[in-house]
Amino acid sequence: MVERHFEHDETIGAMPAGVLSIDLAALRANYAQLRQRAGRPVAAVLKANAYGLGATRVSEALVREGCRDFCVAHLEEGLRLREGLSADNRIFVLNGILPGGERAAFEGDLVPVINAIDQLERWSNLSASLGRRLPAVIQLDTGMSRLGLAPDDWAQAAEMVGAGDAITLLYIMSHLASADLQGDAQNGAQQAEMARAQRFFPGAALCFANSGGIFLGEAFAGDMVRSGIALYGGAPMSDRPNPMRAVVRLDVAVIQTRRVAAGTRIGYGGAHVARGEMRLATIAAGYADGLPRSLSDRGAVYFDGQRLPIVGRVSMDSMVIDISSLPLNALGPGSVVEIIGPHQTIDDLAGDADTISYEILTGLGARFVRRYSGEDGVTVSEAS
Ligand SMILES: *Cc1c(COP(=O)(O)O)cnc(C)c1O
Repeated sequence: MVERHFEHDETIGAMPAGVLSIDLAALRANYAQLRQRAGRPVAAVLKANAYGLGATRVSEALVREGCRDFCVAHLEEGLRLREGLSADNRIFVLNGILPGGERAAFEGDLVPVINAIDQLERWSNLSASLGRRLPAVIQLDTGMSRLGLAPDDWAQAAEMVGAGDAITLLYIMSHLASADLQGDAQNGAQQAEMARAQRFFPGAALCFANSGGIFLGEAFAGDMVRSGIALYGGAPMSDRPNPMRAVVRLDVAVIQTRRVAAGTRIGYGGAHVARGEMRLATIAAGYADGLPRSLSDRGAVYFDGQRLPIVGRVSMDSMVIDISSLPLNALGPGSVVEIIGPHQTIDDLAGDADTISYEILTGLGARFVRRYSGEDGVTVSEAS
């Protein structure tokens, strides 16, 4: 739904400065596609508030699509997510549990990803003190050197798990460092290391692939996959076309327009000097809204399919665009320009900003009004 002008928004009682639209039907279609491609259950990765899109709304839509399993990074995220889910939804805490957080994790019905021997000890101790076998995932470091048990610890962990009634091992897990690149040799190396790790945990179910890994083939699939970015419409592979549906669109209001003469300096530092006469518009979003300062004099926004380059430095709350290519008076205060949408994907914007879609999505600011559509045809606005 493309608006050329923002309407009055009920949640704020005025015209919004920016609207982040989230298409929950596209999200669900992406989930279904990944589920089909993987041929395995897909755990939805909802860390960082579902990559900035709203963990509550996203989880509700995915549950309706048949998703049962969810991953977050932190204990606190898991506790918050738990409130809206039912007991048969599992929530995995990827970063594991910091010392002393075990009881809160247990009471919140969260499944820790155990990344080190001391974490395994503490979870086993809690299990023993409760007289139960609490569920856990054990992460093995197969080459990323970020989280997970180092190969030297695999035998000891396997012994502790095999000791009987310590914990219930739901999955062994690992994470791929280069899954977005089909041709990267690190994928094969990690897969071989995973195969070696599996011999320490005979019969254990495996959770290996992330979004990119789903596209790497059967050897990476395991028994359950984990997907974040592909659900939200980002490209799972950086060296192949993006097969996912766009979920997000970002529109921002024009605040003011002006005409400047050749030689006029534009923005902080006067970093851009007009080469000829220019028509400019200032729009209501800047780096505090998650539009990186690295877009200064690099990226663009769109209006009526027309590319409008960003000129000068991105400010905190605004930036200036070159509208000289548009007919006179084509836009004015309250007009809406597209930052993410049909003309510019998250990956396009990320490319201009020298970053990745993940960073763009998770950074999109709290000042945008979020509008959800695609569930029963209803559009719901939430100021966040
Ligand atoms: C963030 C994360 C994921 C999701 O990765 P995507 O590339 O967004 O699919 C999966 N597993 C782990 C361990 C993660 O940290």
